[in-house]
Amino acid sequence: MIWTVLGTIGVVIATVLAGLWVDRRIPLLPRKEDLQLAAGQQPLLPGFGAGEAPATAIEASIGEIERLRRKQRCPTCKVALDSAADDSVEHEGTHLKILRFTCPRCRGLRSVYVREATT
Ligand SMILES: [Zn+2]
Repeated sequence: MIWTVLGTIGVVIATVLAGLWVDRRIPLLPRKEDLQLAAGQQPLLPGFGAGEAPATAIEASIGEIERLRRKQRCPTCKVALDSAADDSVEHEGTHLKILRFTCPRCRGLRSVYVREATT
């Protein structure tokens, strides 16, 4: 009984691995980048830039956080951003500070995720 279940799981894993192996040599599935280019979007380079998401939070001391806060610019208007109230979030067991900014010209919002350095 147990061997029937394990055998089935083994066959499924082997099939998936074989499929991935074949797809790597002969592209069967459309790649994410191709789909984005087809839709006229900018290709997304691996994930998010530094500080754009909890997973890419910037490690910074209090002083560096203040420096980060001062150098934020709107990606569209290139003007210095206004600082808004900070926020915080727990991500994978670590406490992250979210620096929030608004653009005085286009009212665009921007968030920078920061992990406070303990030293
Ligand atoms: Zn703007």
